[in-house]
Amino acid sequence: MRTPVHHPKFDTLADFVAGRMDEARAVVVAAHAAQCDACSRAICDLEAIGGVMLESVEPVPMADDALEKILARADSAANIVAPAMADRDAWPERRPPLSDYLKDGLEDVKWRAVAPGLAQSVIKAQGYRDGVLRLLKIDPGTKMPRHTHKGEEVTLILRGAYEDETGAFGIGDFADLDADQTHSPMAVGDEPCICLIATSAPLAFKTIAGRIAQPFIGL
Ligand SMILES: [Zn+2]
Repeated sequence: MRTPVHHPKFDTLADFVAGRMDEARAVVVAAHAAQCDACSRAICDLEAIGGVMLESVEPVPMADDALEKILARADSAANIVAPAMADRDAWPERRPPLSDYLKDGLEDVKWRAVAPGLAQSVIKAQGYRDGVLRLLKIDPGTKMPRHTHKGEEVTLILRGAYEDETGAFGIGDFADLDADQTHSPMAVGDEPCICLIATSAPLAFKTIAGRIAQPFIGL
């Protein structure tokens, strides 16, 4: 398997470990870490540090209604990925693997054309609204309209390759983009580039073509 060159930012990994991340982005981070030694090691180290910090907190007497309060919070946080204890042996099985979301594999994905050379498939799951987690298929030579993001966007390349202003991305690479970064990825090579993308907010297209395509992309 190819060793990834592009990885999540440290803050992204820290949010993942701390459970401060929506499920859609956590799926993409977990899928990258499952094929990246460096990141799975970093996650385990961060979990170990988190465990030590929890253990060093002084115990305090609990209020009578503490349990109800904790349960109420746990309910409202049901879509947040819970931080796990440091256990490298259990990696990555203790996270929902991508195959849970792509039950039929990549071969049987039902693609919907959104623009010439561009198709997508929304991955439905509980815990996030429709369209936040999706697969994008870009035909070789097709360039995505230039866009920024109102929130963060994380991308994992599952097949093929693309290039944009930030570099060349191949299978296993993780693109971790901030709200203020603009990019226009172009698929390269001779097979379509298939990416798994989670966005925390809609894309903001910079070009007229992009703005016209936006309703069709459904973001
Ligand atoms: Zn990595």
